[in-house]
Amino acid sequence: GPSLVWFRDDLRLADNPALTAALERGKPIVAVYVLDEESAGIRPLGGAARWWLHGSLTALADSLERLGGRLTLRRGPAEDVVIGLAASVGADAVFWNRRYGAAEREVDTRIKSVLAATGADARSFAGSLLHEPWTIQTGQGGTYSVFTPFWRACTAGPPPRAPFPAPDAIPGFPGEVPTDLLDDWGLLPTRPDWAAGLRSAWQPGEASAHRLLEIFLTESLARYGDERDEPAQAVTSRLSPHLRWGEISPFQIWQATERARIGLTGRAQASATRFLTEVGWREFSYHVLFNNPTLATVNLRPEFDAFPWPRLDKRVLEAWQQGRTGIALVDAGMRELWRTGSMHNRVRMVTASFLIKNLLIDWRLGEQWFWDTLVDADAASNPFGWQWVAGSGADAAPYFRVFNPELQAKKFDPHAEYIRQNVPEYGTDAYPAPIVDLGETRRAALAAYEQIKGMK
Ligand code: FAD
Repeated sequence: GPSLVWFRDDLRLADNPALTAALERGKPIVAVYVLDEESAGIRPLGGAARWWLHGSLTALADSLERLGGRLTLRRGPAEDVVIGLAASVGADAVFWNRRYGAAEREVDTRIKSVLAATGADARSFAGSLLHEPWTIQTGQGGTYSVFTPFWRACTAGPPPRAPFPAPDAIPGFPGEVPTDLLDDWGLLPTRPDWAAGLRSAWQPGEASAHRLLEIFLTESLARYGDERDEPAQAVTSRLSPHLRWGEISPFQIWQATERARIGLTGRAQASATRFLTEVGWREFSYHVLFNNPTLATVNLRPEFDAFPWPRLDKRVLEAWQQGRTGIALVDAGMRELWRTGSMHNRVRMVTASFLIKNLLIDWRLGEQWFWDTLVDADAASNPFGWQWVAGSGADAAPYFRVFNPELQAKKFDPHAEYIRQNVPEYGTDAYPAPIVDLGETRRAALAAYEQIKGMK
C-alpha cells in the first residue's frame, strides 16, 4: 500500500526525515496536512500564525505538485482524520516528524498505537531539533534548567547529522483522495485586512527560507556578533517563522553556517559561533517545554504564583498593545509587531519587561498578545522568552533586573533610527507623554517582588 506522510511543523521537502523514509519505501505517497482545532489541549493558532500557515501550505502544495505529488488538506481531530485517511487509502506506513508539546505528543501516541494495532508501520522521526529533548541529560540523568551547561552538553557530543537531500520526484497516489480547499479554512483575515504589512515583510515557504539563509550568511553573518542587538541594523537572519513552521531545519542551518564559518577568521568566526548559540536557545526552550508542558501558563518558579499583580486596567494593556505608551522604544517595538508580525529580539525583551515591571501586568497577558500577533509565535520560545523576562522561568533574568527602555534606546538605537521607522510622529507634539513614570513603577515592582522573594 501507499505511504502516508503527515506534515505538521515541518512544511518542507528537503531534509524531511519522515518524507525521506517514505520515499525509500518506493510506494506512492499520500501527503496530508491536518488543521486540528478540536483535540484536547491543542492551543489554537494566533491570527498571524494562521496567515503564515496559509502561505506555507500554498508553497508546500506547489512544490509537491511540481514533483508529481499532491497535498491533501483535512480539518478535524487529528486522530480521526489520520486514522480514517490511512484506512481509506490502504496505507501500510504512516510517517511523521515529532512534535514536543504534551497535548500533541498524546495525540501522536494514541494514533501510533491504533495504527500499529492494524499492522501498519507507524513511525515518528527527529526533524525539528538538533537534539531530541530527552537525549540531553545531566551527569545524574536529570534535565537541564540552565542554558550554558545544556548547550555545552549538546555541543560536546557528535556534530548534528548532515541534512537529507531534497527529493527530485514524489510518486503520486493514483486514487481519488478528497481534500478541503485551503481557502475554505478561513486562515486569512477578511475585514479589516490587517495583513498588508505582513505580506510586504514576509514570503512564507521553503524557497524563501533558503533565500534568507543565503543572504544572511553572505551579508550579515560576520557582523552578527557585534550588531545583533541593534534593531536598526537588521543583521539577524529573520529565519524564526520559517523555523517555527519547519520550512527550513536546524540541520540545514547548522551545516550551511559551519561551511560559511570556514571562510571567516577572528571576530567574524566568533560571530558564526554566536549565531549557532542562538539556534541553541531555541533547542533549550524546547528542552524546557518538553520537561514543563505547562510553560505557557504556569510559573516555573512557584513563588511567582503569589505575585501581587494589581487589578488589570484594560486601557493600559491596550496602550501597550497599540504602541501608545509614550515610551518610544516600547511603542516602536509594539508597532513593528502589529505591522510586520515580528519584533527584534532586543526590543521583545524591552517591551516585555515594560509590560511586566513598569505596567505591572501579568506576563501571561503579554505572552498571549505575542502569540496572536507574531508570525513566529512558537509554543516553546514564546512562553520561554516571557518567563525569562518575568524572572519566573528557567535560567531567567533575575526579577530585580528591570530594563530601562530609555537607556536601552540610547545604547542600542543611538540615532533613534529604529524608533523613527516605526513611530513617525516621534519628537513632535503628536507623540503622547509617557503613561507611567519609569522610576516610580520600577520601585513599585521591586516592592511587589519583595513580598514573594524567598517564598516557595
Ligand atoms: P536570529 O538572531 O537570526 O537567530 C536565529 C534563530 O535562533 C532564530 O530564528 C530563532 O529560531 C533562534 N533564536 C534566536 N534567539 C532566540 C531566543 N532568545 N530564544 C529562542 N530561540 C532563539 N522566538 C521565536 O522563534 N518565537 C517566539 O514566539 C518568540 N517569542 C519571544 C518572546 C520574548 C518575550 C522574547 C524575549 C523572545 C522571543 N523569541 C521568540 C526569541 C527571539 O526574539 C526570536 O527568535 C528572534 O528575534 C527571531 O529573529 P531572527 O530569526 O532574526 O533571529
